[in-house]
Amino acid sequence: MSIKENLLDFQEKLKGSHCQLIAVSKTHPVELIKEAYEAGQRAFGENKAQEMKAKQPELPADVEWHMIGHLQTNKVKYIAPYVHLIQSVDSLKLLQEINRQAQKHDRVINCLLQFFIAEEESKFGLDVQEAQALLRSDEYQALAHVRICGVMGVATNTQDQAQLQREFKSLKNIFETLKQEFFPQAHHFREISMGMSSDYQLAIAEGSTMIRVGSAIFGYREYSATVTL
Ligand SMILES: *Cc1c(COP(=O)(O)O)cnc(C)c1O
Repeated sequence: MSIKENLLDFQEKLKGSHCQLIAVSKTHPVELIKEAYEAGQRAFGENKAQEMKAKQPELPADVEWHMIGHLQTNKVKYIAPYVHLIQSVDSLKLLQEINRQAQKHDRVINCLLQFFIAEEESKFGLDVQEAQALLRSDEYQALAHVRICGVMGVATNTQDQAQLQREFKSLKNIFETLKQEFFPQAHHFREISMGMSSDYQLAIAEGSTMIRVGSAIFGYREYSATVTL
């Protein structure tokens, strides 16, 4: 199937579900992103700041760029002028740098807190106690140029549906806990970003508001090859 057909398929599946599709375009060239754009897709996810920076000027200005990968503080400056949502915030230090760069560009940057939900080592993210400490801190309260819109998580790479369901439920619970304690009146705190090509149906059933889908739209990625833009 073509990129366009894949996207139409997702649009059909997501109809009436309150869940948004983020097309994960990492490693794929600008030509394929344009193809998706022409099929109506506007939200794209990248996991490297430099790759996003290189692609952004090549695409129309109404593309919504989502940072979904681990972000080092010294790379925030590459995406701060235009990024739509940074989904991978996992420390106060990173949030402070995002705030500093957002202020420079006279804007507010929307962010999600990334949580560790997988039963695997090596995944990035906070746990709920760390997030509570962050949100209670004076340092966080002083930040006027970031807005936290919800939570994000990457589940274990497994076929085990019961395990995936546990992990998605745990992220939903974290969302509800934080909503109640810190954002009871805040309409903008509403996003639960979970679900990828292999597990998005289950994620939607467990309350996802944003699925991040790469290979089911663009096909397989070649990690070994250098990305040509
Ligand atoms: C690559 C990536 C995705 C998309 O993965 P697919 O399996 O290709 O759909 C989603 N989320 C994150 C954080 C990723 O790095």
